[in-house]
Amino acid sequence: MSSKGIALVTGAGKNTFPILTLSLISPPAQGIGRGVALRLAEDGFEVAVNDVAANSANLDSLVAEIKQKGRESSKHIADVSQDEQVKVMVEEVVKQHGSLDVMVANAGILGPEGPLTEISAEQYDRVMSVNARGPFFCYKYAGIQMIKQGRGGRMIGASSLAGKRGIGPLTAYSMSKFAVRGLTQAAAQEFAPHGITVNAYAPGGIDTPMMIGNRDRTERMEEAKQMSPLKLVGVPADIASLVSFLASAESRFITGQTMSIDGGAFFD
Ligand code: NAD
Repeated sequence: MSSKGIALVTGAGKNTFPILTLSLISPPAQGIGRGVALRLAEDGFEVAVNDVAANSANLDSLVAEIKQKGRESSKHIADVSQDEQVKVMVEEVVKQHGSLDVMVANAGILGPEGPLTEISAEQYDRVMSVNARGPFFCYKYAGIQMIKQGRGGRMIGASSLAGKRGIGPLTAYSMSKFAVRGLTQAAAQEFAPHGITVNAYAPGGIDTPMMIGNRDRTERMEEAKQMSPLKLVGVPADIASLVSFLASAESRFITGQTMSIDGGAFFD
């Protein structure tokens, strides 16, 4: 089977649920990155997957699952907020797979929840560095590689409903997700002459370890449902479907967009 190209998905390590209580009958099995990686493999891409060292074992099982689908895969441990680590990661992917065609800058953290007046400089820097610096470096090194290859490419980043409409107790997180929209728009213009499109997804509540956090699962799911007119909670496969389209040749006329995927919670 010939491959459609090489994709790299950051933040693809399945998070195991930290505190298993009796109220958590079916904890979410995967994050968005993992769902995206599996979908791109089904679409015919070779898929390189990234996360931090703590999720190394989860990446091993993801790599094995992708290979079972008949696609090449590799694991890349790196902290996306670190310039040098992202540079080395992209170089390793190219060394192992021969090129890079799709960069999915998905890794993110939720960041401090609470009054702005109580958020420390360290908490602010941490969420901005993973959620905004991370995609910036991912696009920087993917861009260098894709321009060198000279055959276009796709860059796709993770914004949020909180990047469309600021969410009160998540000030710094909201800022970091607005930053992804700015990055998407500016990078789309810069990379357009090279045939590289840059878009982002802005999910509402998606049933992942991040959304549930250490809250009561039933309560959190109900709260997330009430956020949208459809009264649904999204699943990683919903985001994976959008990424699948954005990564495909069919999306060639779309760039610079941050697409809401939130059950109608926000209208652009
Ligand atoms: P998740 O916590 O389940 O997965 C995120 C992954 O990113 C984790 O595996 C984590 O280890 C990894 N990661 C964190 N910091 C990293 C770093 N510095 N370098 C590399 N990897 C790192 O979260 P998710 O719900 O799957 O979210 C994926 C993306 O979608 C995030 O950017 C998130 O902000 C965004 N998002 C999620 C929701 C939601 O409701 N779940 C809503 C809007 C936006």
